[in-house]
Amino acid sequence: MPDLRELPRSLAPLDDESLPGYLLRLSSRLHVPVADAAVRTGLVDRTGATSTVFLPIRLVHRIDDDALDKFARTTRLTAVEAGSLLASPLGDRYGPLNGDLMSRGNPVSLVRNNRWFFGRWTRYCPHCLAGDGSVIQQQLGGPWKRHWRLPTVFACLRHRTLLHNTCPQCGKAALTDATNFLPRAAAEPMHPTLCRAPTGNRYGLTPHSPSCKADLTTAACREIDADTLSTVLALQTRLLDLHNPDGPTAISSVGWQQTVAQYFLDLRAVTWLILLSWPETQRYAPTAALAEAVARTAENARIAAQGQRDRPGKRHPSVAYTDPPIDPLSAAAVFGIAEQLLATDYNATFAIFNPLISQARRTEPTMTHLQKPHHASPPLRLTLNHHRHDLWKKGRARLLRKHPELTPMPPSRPVTTSAGR
Ligand SMILES: [Zn+2]
Ligand SMILES: [Zn+2]
Repeated sequence: MPDLRELPRSLAPLDDESLPGYLLRLSSRLHVPVADAAVRTGLVDRTGATSTVFLPIRLVHRIDDDALDKFARTTRLTAVEAGSLLASPLGDRYGPLNGDLMSRGNPVSLVRNNRWFFGRWTRYCPHCLAGDGSVIQQQLGGPWKRHWRLPTVFACLRHRTLLHNTCPQCGKAALTDATNFLPRAAAEPMHPTLCRAPTGNRYGLTPHSPSCKADLTTAACREIDADTLSTVLALQTRLLDLHNPDGPTAISSVGWQQTVAQYFLDLRAVTWLILLSWPETQRYAPTAALAEAVARTAENARIAAQGQRDRPGKRHPSVAYTDPPIDPLSAAAVFGIAEQLLATDYNATFAIFNPLISQARRTEPTMTHLQKPHHASPPLRLTLNHHRHDLWKKGRARLLRKHPELTPMPPSRPVTTSAGR
Protein backbone atom coordinates (compact mmCIF):
# COMPACT_ATOMS: atom_id res chain seq x y z
CA MET A 1 0.00 0.00 0.00
CA PRO A 2 1.46 3.41 -0.92
CA ASP A 3 2.17 5.99 1.75
CA LEU A 4 -1.09 7.52 2.77
CA ARG A 5 -1.25 11.25 3.10
CA GLU A 6 -3.69 13.43 4.93
CA LEU A 7 -6.59 14.34 2.65
CA PRO A 8 -6.63 17.93 1.41
CA ARG A 9 -10.14 18.30 2.80
CA SER A 10 -11.87 16.22 5.41
CA LEU A 11 -15.15 16.11 7.27
CA ALA A 12 -16.23 15.92 10.89
CA PRO A 13 -18.56 12.90 11.43
CA LEU A 14 -22.24 13.71 11.99
CA ASP A 15 -24.31 12.39 14.87
CA ASP A 16 -24.68 8.57 14.64
CA GLU A 17 -23.14 8.61 11.15
CA SER A 18 -22.15 5.22 9.66
CA LEU A 19 -18.92 4.45 7.82
CA PRO A 20 -20.74 4.05 4.46
CA GLY A 21 -22.45 7.41 4.99
CA TYR A 22 -19.18 9.10 5.89
CA LEU A 23 -17.48 7.67 2.77
CA LEU A 24 -20.34 8.90 0.59
CA ARG A 25 -19.91 12.42 1.93
CA LEU A 26 -16.12 12.23 1.65
CA SER A 27 -16.33 11.01 -1.95
CA SER A 28 -18.68 13.85 -2.80
CA ARG A 29 -16.50 16.44 -1.06
CA LEU A 30 -13.29 15.24 -2.73
CA HIS A 31 -15.01 14.70 -6.12
CA VAL A 32 -13.64 11.14 -6.35
CA PRO A 33 -15.42 7.75 -6.56
CA VAL A 34 -16.24 6.04 -3.26
CA ALA A 35 -13.64 3.38 -4.08
CA ASP A 36 -10.92 6.05 -4.34
CA ALA A 37 -11.97 7.58 -1.02
CA ALA A 38 -11.75 4.12 0.60
CA VAL A 39 -8.27 3.49 -0.85
CA ARG A 40 -6.97 6.95 0.03
CA THR A 41 -8.06 6.53 3.64
CA GLY A 42 -6.39 3.12 3.98
CA LEU A 43 -9.61 1.14 4.40
CA VAL A 44 -8.93 -1.14 1.42
CA ASP A 45 -6.35 -1.80 -1.28
CA ARG A 46 -6.68 -2.12 -5.03
CA THR A 47 -6.34 -5.77 -6.04
CA GLY A 48 -5.75 -7.78 -9.21
CA ALA A 49 -4.86 -6.70 -12.73
CA THR A 50 -7.99 -4.57 -13.00
CA SER A 51 -7.27 -2.79 -9.70
CA THR A 52 -10.73 -3.66 -8.52
CA VAL A 53 -11.74 -2.29 -5.15
CA PHE A 54 -13.79 -4.58 -2.91
CA LEU A 55 -15.56 -2.99 0.07
CA PRO A 56 -16.20 -5.90 2.48
CA ILE A 57 -19.23 -5.47 4.70
CA ARG A 58 -17.23 -6.52 7.77
CA LEU A 59 -15.63 -3.03 7.68
CA VAL A 60 -18.98 -1.47 8.55
CA HIS A 61 -18.77 -3.41 11.80
CA ARG A 62 -15.10 -3.32 12.78
CA ILE A 63 -11.72 -2.17 11.38
CA ASP A 64 -8.45 -3.53 12.69
CA ASP A 65 -6.31 -1.15 14.74
CA ASP A 66 -3.72 -0.52 12.03
CA ALA A 67 -6.29 0.35 9.37
CA LEU A 68 -8.31 2.43 11.83
CA ASP A 69 -5.17 4.38 12.67
CA LYS A 70 -4.52 5.08 8.97
CA PHE A 71 -8.14 6.05 8.46
CA ALA A 72 -8.08 8.45 11.41
CA ARG A 73 -4.75 9.96 10.31
CA THR A 74 -5.76 10.56 6.67
CA THR A 75 -9.19 11.94 7.55
CA ARG A 76 -7.77 13.96 10.46
CA LEU A 77 -10.28 12.42 12.89
CA THR A 78 -9.53 11.39 16.45
CA ALA A 79 -9.48 7.65 17.16
CA VAL A 80 -12.76 8.05 19.05
CA GLU A 81 -14.41 9.88 16.14
CA ALA A 82 -13.22 7.24 13.64
CA GLY A 83 -14.36 4.38 15.90
CA SER A 84 -17.77 5.98 16.37
CA LEU A 85 -18.54 5.39 12.68
CA LEU A 86 -18.45 1.61 13.24
CA ALA A 87 -21.24 -0.71 14.34
CA SER A 88 -19.29 -2.89 16.78
CA PRO A 89 -20.11 -0.67 19.82
CA LEU A 90 -23.82 -1.29 19.15
CA GLY A 91 -23.18 -4.96 20.06
CA ASP A 92 -22.88 -4.03 23.74
CA ARG A 93 -26.67 -3.78 23.68
CA TYR A 94 -27.81 -5.48 20.47
CA GLY A 95 -27.40 -9.26 20.92
CA PRO A 96 -27.02 -10.20 17.23
CA LEU A 97 -23.89 -7.98 17.17
CA ASN A 98 -22.60 -9.07 20.58
CA GLY A 99 -19.35 -11.02 20.17
CA ASP A 100 -19.62 -12.83 23.52
CA LEU A 101 -23.16 -14.05 22.92
CA MET A 102 -22.89 -14.81 19.21
CA SER A 103 -19.39 -15.95 18.37
CA ARG A 104 -17.27 -16.20 21.51
CA GLY A 105 -15.42 -13.07 20.41
CA ASN A 106 -14.64 -14.26 16.86
CA PRO A 107 -15.45 -11.24 14.63
CA VAL A 108 -15.39 -13.30 11.39
CA SER A 109 -18.08 -15.72 12.49
CA LEU A 110 -20.09 -12.81 13.88
CA VAL A 111 -20.37 -11.31 10.38
CA ARG A 112 -20.92 -14.57 8.47
CA ASN A 113 -24.61 -15.37 7.90
CA ASN A 114 -25.64 -12.72 10.40
CA ARG A 115 -28.74 -11.50 8.63
CA TRP A 116 -29.94 -9.52 11.64
CA PHE A 117 -27.40 -6.83 10.85
CA PHE A 118 -25.63 -7.64 7.59
CA GLY A 119 -28.75 -8.46 5.55
CA ARG A 120 -29.51 -6.63 2.34
CA TRP A 121 -31.73 -3.70 3.17
CA THR A 122 -31.52 0.06 3.31
CA ARG A 123 -33.58 2.10 5.73
CA TYR A 124 -33.60 5.88 5.91
CA CYS A 125 -35.51 8.93 7.08
CA PRO A 126 -35.82 11.40 4.16
CA HIS A 127 -35.90 14.38 6.55
CA CYS A 128 -32.73 13.32 8.40
CA LEU A 129 -31.02 12.79 5.03
CA ALA A 130 -32.10 16.26 3.90
CA GLY A 131 -29.97 17.66 6.72
CA ASP A 132 -30.43 20.08 9.58
CA GLY A 133 -29.93 23.27 7.56
CA SER A 134 -26.28 23.78 8.57
CA VAL A 135 -23.94 24.79 5.74
CA ILE A 136 -22.19 21.41 5.54
CA GLN A 137 -25.48 19.49 5.57
CA GLN A 138 -26.94 21.80 2.93
CA GLN A 139 -23.99 20.86 0.75
CA LEU A 140 -23.70 17.12 1.41
CA GLY A 141 -26.92 16.13 3.18
CA GLY A 142 -27.46 14.69 6.64
CA PRO A 143 -26.09 11.43 8.08
CA TRP A 144 -26.76 7.91 6.87
CA LYS A 145 -27.16 6.65 10.43
CA ARG A 146 -25.61 3.54 11.99
CA HIS A 147 -28.84 2.74 13.83
CA TRP A 148 -30.77 2.47 10.55
CA ARG A 149 -28.95 -0.85 10.01
CA LEU A 150 -30.64 -2.34 13.07
CA PRO A 151 -33.87 -4.25 12.27
CA THR A 152 -35.27 -2.88 15.56
CA VAL A 153 -34.99 0.72 14.33
CA PHE A 154 -37.96 1.38 12.05
CA ALA A 155 -39.03 4.96 12.85
CA CYS A 156 -37.51 8.41 13.28
CA LEU A 157 -38.59 9.97 16.56
CA ARG A 158 -37.33 13.43 15.62
CA HIS A 159 -39.49 13.57 12.51
CA ARG A 160 -42.26 11.32 13.91
CA THR A 161 -42.32 9.11 10.84
CA LEU A 162 -41.70 5.54 9.74
CA LEU A 163 -38.38 4.99 8.02
CA HIS A 164 -38.37 4.14 4.30
CA ASN A 165 -36.78 1.02 2.86
CA THR A 166 -37.13 1.62 -0.86
CA CYS A 167 -36.36 4.42 -3.30
CA PRO A 168 -39.46 6.51 -4.21
CA GLN A 169 -38.59 6.25 -7.91
CA CYS A 170 -37.17 2.79 -8.68
CA GLY A 171 -38.60 0.93 -5.67
CA LYS A 172 -35.26 -0.76 -4.92
CA ALA A 173 -33.04 -0.60 -1.83
CA ALA A 174 -31.06 2.59 -2.46
CA LEU A 175 -27.77 1.65 -0.83
CA THR A 176 -27.57 -2.13 -1.02
CA ASP A 177 -25.14 -4.28 -2.97
CA ALA A 178 -24.56 -8.02 -3.18
CA THR A 179 -20.84 -7.89 -2.40
CA ASN A 180 -19.77 -4.39 -1.32
CA PHE A 181 -21.01 -2.30 1.57
CA LEU A 182 -21.77 0.45 -0.94
CA PRO A 183 -23.02 -0.03 -4.51
CA ARG A 184 -21.41 1.65 -7.56
CA ALA A 185 -18.15 2.15 -5.67
CA ALA A 186 -16.13 2.85 -8.83
CA ALA A 187 -18.74 5.14 -10.38
CA GLU A 188 -18.41 8.90 -10.69
CA PRO A 189 -19.05 10.66 -7.35
CA MET A 190 -22.71 11.19 -6.58
CA HIS A 191 -24.47 13.30 -3.99
CA PRO A 192 -24.90 11.19 -0.80
CA THR A 193 -28.68 11.56 -0.77
CA LEU A 194 -29.21 10.07 -4.26
CA CYS A 195 -30.33 6.49 -4.91
CA ARG A 196 -27.40 4.33 -6.00
CA ALA A 197 -29.50 1.32 -7.08
CA PRO A 198 -28.67 0.25 -10.64
CA THR A 199 -31.31 0.82 -13.30
CA GLY A 200 -32.51 -2.14 -15.39
CA ASN A 201 -33.55 -5.59 -14.32
CA ARG A 202 -31.21 -7.94 -12.50
CA TYR A 203 -30.30 -9.87 -15.67
CA GLY A 204 -29.24 -6.77 -17.61
CA LEU A 205 -27.00 -5.35 -14.88
CA THR A 206 -23.29 -4.77 -15.40
CA PRO A 207 -20.78 -2.97 -13.17
CA HIS A 208 -21.36 0.03 -15.44
CA SER A 209 -25.17 0.10 -15.34
CA PRO A 210 -26.22 3.65 -14.50
CA SER A 211 -27.58 4.44 -11.05
CA CYS A 212 -31.16 5.53 -10.48
CA LYS A 213 -30.05 8.85 -8.89
CA ALA A 214 -33.50 9.71 -7.51
CA ASP A 215 -33.39 12.21 -4.65
CA LEU A 216 -34.24 10.18 -1.52
CA THR A 217 -35.02 13.32 0.49
CA THR A 218 -38.18 13.75 -1.60
CA ALA A 219 -39.72 10.42 -0.52
CA ALA A 220 -43.27 11.09 0.66
CA CYS A 221 -44.41 10.08 4.17
CA ARG A 222 -46.17 6.74 4.36
CA GLU A 223 -49.87 7.15 5.11
CA ILE A 224 -50.77 5.39 8.36
CA ASP A 225 -53.54 6.09 10.84
CA ALA A 226 -52.82 8.15 13.97
CA ASP A 227 -53.30 5.23 16.42
CA THR A 228 -50.84 3.06 14.53
CA LEU A 229 -48.30 5.89 14.28
CA SER A 230 -48.44 6.66 18.00
CA THR A 231 -48.14 2.93 18.85
CA VAL A 232 -45.14 2.61 16.54
CA LEU A 233 -43.41 5.70 17.95
CA ALA A 234 -43.98 4.60 21.56
CA LEU A 235 -42.47 1.18 20.80
CA GLN A 236 -39.54 2.81 18.99
CA THR A 237 -38.94 5.05 22.02
CA ARG A 238 -38.74 2.00 24.32
CA LEU A 239 -36.48 0.04 21.95
CA LEU A 240 -34.15 3.01 21.36
CA ASP A 241 -33.92 3.38 25.13
CA LEU A 242 -32.60 -0.20 25.24
CA HIS A 243 -30.12 0.56 22.42
CA ASN A 244 -28.92 3.69 24.24
CA PRO A 245 -25.55 3.12 26.02
CA ASP A 246 -26.98 5.08 28.98
CA GLY A 247 -30.28 3.18 28.95
CA PRO A 248 -31.46 0.34 31.22
CA THR A 249 -28.88 -2.31 32.06
CA ALA A 250 -31.25 -5.26 32.43
CA ILE A 251 -34.80 -6.16 31.51
CA SER A 252 -37.28 -8.97 32.15
CA SER A 253 -37.58 -11.63 29.45
CA VAL A 254 -40.31 -14.22 30.08
CA GLY A 255 -40.06 -13.26 33.75
CA TRP A 256 -36.30 -13.59 34.20
CA GLN A 257 -33.78 -10.83 34.45
CA GLN A 258 -31.56 -10.62 31.37
CA THR A 259 -28.98 -8.26 29.93
CA VAL A 260 -30.30 -5.99 27.21
CA ALA A 261 -28.10 -7.75 24.61
CA GLN A 262 -29.66 -11.11 25.55
CA TYR A 263 -33.12 -9.54 25.47
CA PHE A 264 -32.64 -8.60 21.79
CA LEU A 265 -31.73 -12.23 21.00
CA ASP A 266 -34.90 -13.33 22.78
CA LEU A 267 -36.85 -10.72 20.80
CA ARG A 268 -35.41 -12.24 17.63
CA ALA A 269 -36.37 -15.79 18.65
CA VAL A 270 -39.91 -14.70 19.48
CA THR A 271 -40.14 -12.92 16.12
CA TRP A 272 -39.59 -16.29 14.44
CA LEU A 273 -42.24 -17.84 16.65
CA ILE A 274 -44.77 -15.12 15.80
CA LEU A 275 -44.29 -15.55 12.05
CA LEU A 276 -44.39 -19.34 12.25
CA SER A 277 -47.54 -19.42 14.39
CA TRP A 278 -49.47 -16.52 12.82
CA PRO A 279 -52.40 -15.77 13.28
CA GLU A 280 -52.19 -17.24 16.82
CA THR A 281 -50.89 -13.92 18.21
CA GLN A 282 -53.20 -11.66 16.21
CA ARG A 283 -54.97 -10.49 19.38
CA TYR A 284 -51.75 -8.81 20.54
CA ALA A 285 -51.71 -6.45 17.52
CA PRO A 286 -53.04 -3.10 18.80
CA THR A 287 -54.39 -1.86 15.44
CA ALA A 288 -55.75 -3.39 12.23
CA ALA A 289 -52.88 -1.88 10.21
CA LEU A 290 -50.30 -3.58 12.45
CA ALA A 291 -52.14 -6.94 12.27
CA GLU A 292 -52.22 -6.66 8.46
CA ALA A 293 -48.51 -5.89 8.38
CA VAL A 294 -47.67 -9.07 10.35
CA ALA A 295 -50.06 -11.11 8.20
CA ARG A 296 -48.29 -9.86 5.05
CA THR A 297 -44.85 -10.70 6.47
CA ALA A 298 -45.95 -14.18 7.62
CA GLU A 299 -47.51 -14.89 4.21
CA ASN A 300 -44.34 -13.77 2.39
CA ALA A 301 -42.28 -16.03 4.68
CA ARG A 302 -44.64 -18.95 3.95
CA ILE A 303 -44.29 -18.41 0.19
CA ALA A 304 -40.48 -18.13 0.49
CA ALA A 305 -40.35 -21.33 2.59
CA GLN A 306 -42.44 -23.16 -0.02
CA GLY A 307 -40.06 -21.89 -2.71
CA GLN A 308 -37.17 -23.37 -0.75
CA ARG A 309 -38.96 -26.72 -0.41
CA ASP A 310 -39.71 -26.86 -4.15
CA ARG A 311 -36.19 -26.22 -5.35
CA PRO A 312 -33.67 -28.98 -6.08
CA GLY A 313 -30.62 -29.60 -3.89
CA LYS A 314 -30.10 -28.40 -0.35
CA ARG A 315 -33.17 -26.69 1.06
CA HIS A 316 -33.52 -24.27 3.97
CA PRO A 317 -37.25 -23.57 4.35
CA SER A 318 -36.87 -22.33 7.94
CA VAL A 319 -34.57 -19.50 6.80
CA ALA A 320 -37.63 -17.78 5.33
CA TYR A 321 -38.90 -17.24 8.87
CA THR A 322 -35.63 -16.25 10.47
CA ASP A 323 -34.81 -13.16 8.39
CA PRO A 324 -35.82 -9.91 10.11
CA PRO A 325 -38.89 -8.09 8.74
CA ILE A 326 -37.48 -5.54 6.29
CA ASP A 327 -40.52 -3.31 5.81
CA PRO A 328 -40.44 -0.78 8.71
CA LEU A 329 -44.18 -1.08 9.48
CA SER A 330 -43.94 -4.89 9.54
CA ALA A 331 -40.90 -4.70 11.81
CA ALA A 332 -42.76 -2.42 14.23
CA ALA A 333 -45.79 -4.73 14.15
CA VAL A 334 -43.86 -7.95 14.81
CA PHE A 335 -41.54 -6.49 17.47
CA GLY A 336 -44.54 -4.91 19.22
CA ILE A 337 -46.06 -8.38 19.66
CA ALA A 338 -42.68 -9.90 20.59
CA GLU A 339 -42.24 -7.26 23.29
CA GLN A 340 -45.62 -8.19 24.82
CA LEU A 341 -44.84 -11.92 24.75
CA LEU A 342 -41.48 -11.37 26.47
CA ALA A 343 -43.18 -9.25 29.16
CA THR A 344 -45.03 -12.40 30.31
CA ASP A 345 -44.89 -13.33 34.00
CA TYR A 346 -42.79 -16.49 34.31
CA ASN A 347 -45.64 -18.47 35.88
CA ALA A 348 -47.82 -17.73 32.85
CA THR A 349 -45.12 -18.42 30.27
CA PHE A 350 -45.99 -22.05 29.54
CA ALA A 351 -49.70 -21.40 29.01
CA ILE A 352 -49.04 -18.50 26.65
CA PHE A 353 -46.21 -19.98 24.61
CA ASN A 354 -47.33 -23.61 24.34
CA PRO A 355 -50.10 -23.11 21.73
CA LEU A 356 -47.77 -20.88 19.68
CA ILE A 357 -45.04 -23.51 19.66
CA SER A 358 -47.46 -26.26 18.64
CA GLN A 359 -48.71 -24.15 15.72
CA ALA A 360 -45.14 -23.19 14.75
CA ARG A 361 -44.10 -26.83 14.61
CA ARG A 362 -47.09 -27.66 12.40
CA THR A 363 -46.09 -24.82 10.05
CA GLU A 364 -42.42 -25.71 9.83
CA PRO A 365 -41.43 -29.11 11.28
CA THR A 366 -37.79 -28.56 10.30
CA MET A 367 -37.54 -25.54 12.59
CA THR A 368 -34.54 -26.24 14.78
CA HIS A 369 -33.17 -22.72 15.14
CA LEU A 370 -35.02 -22.05 18.34
CA GLN A 371 -33.16 -24.80 20.18
CA LYS A 372 -29.62 -23.55 19.66
CA PRO A 373 -27.95 -22.08 22.76
CA HIS A 374 -27.06 -18.66 21.37
CA HIS A 375 -30.50 -18.13 19.89
CA ALA A 376 -32.35 -17.56 23.15
CA SER A 377 -31.77 -17.19 26.89
CA PRO A 378 -31.96 -20.42 28.96
CA PRO A 379 -35.45 -19.65 30.38
CA LEU A 380 -36.88 -18.87 26.93
CA ARG A 381 -35.20 -21.95 25.46
CA LEU A 382 -36.71 -24.05 28.23
CA THR A 383 -40.17 -22.80 27.30
CA LEU A 384 -39.62 -23.26 23.57
CA ASN A 385 -38.47 -26.85 23.95
CA HIS A 386 -40.91 -28.39 26.45
CA HIS A 387 -44.36 -29.49 25.37
CA ARG A 388 -45.49 -30.92 28.70
CA HIS A 389 -46.20 -28.72 31.71
CA ASP A 390 -44.74 -31.15 34.28
CA LEU A 391 -41.47 -31.39 32.35
CA TRP A 392 -41.37 -27.64 31.92
CA LYS A 393 -41.82 -27.16 35.71
CA LYS A 394 -39.02 -29.62 36.44
CA GLY A 395 -36.81 -27.89 33.90
CA ARG A 396 -37.52 -24.56 35.53
CA ALA A 397 -36.49 -25.86 38.96
CA ARG A 398 -33.28 -27.22 37.43
CA LEU A 399 -32.63 -23.88 35.77
CA LEU A 400 -32.94 -22.07 39.10
CA ARG A 401 -30.39 -24.43 40.68
CA LYS A 402 -28.00 -24.22 37.73
CA HIS A 403 -28.25 -20.48 37.09
CA PRO A 404 -28.67 -18.70 40.43
CA GLU A 405 -27.65 -15.50 38.64
CA LEU A 406 -30.91 -15.61 36.67
CA THR A 407 -33.45 -13.96 38.91
CA PRO A 408 -37.12 -14.62 38.24
CA MET A 409 -38.90 -11.31 38.36
CA PRO A 410 -42.38 -9.89 37.82
CA PRO A 411 -43.15 -8.72 34.30
CA SER A 412 -41.89 -5.26 33.71
CA ARG A 413 -40.35 -3.00 31.22
CA PRO A 414 -36.80 -1.73 32.00
CA VAL A 415 -35.36 -2.74 35.36
CA THR A 416 -33.37 0.44 35.93
CA THR A 417 -34.51 3.80 34.76
CA SER A 418 -32.80 5.45 31.85
CA ALA A 419 -30.13 8.02 32.60
CA GLY A 420 -31.68 10.09 29.81
CA ARG A 421 -30.84 10.53 26.19
ZN1 LIG B 1 -35.58 11.79 10.69
ZN1 LIG C 1 -33.87 4.51 -7.06
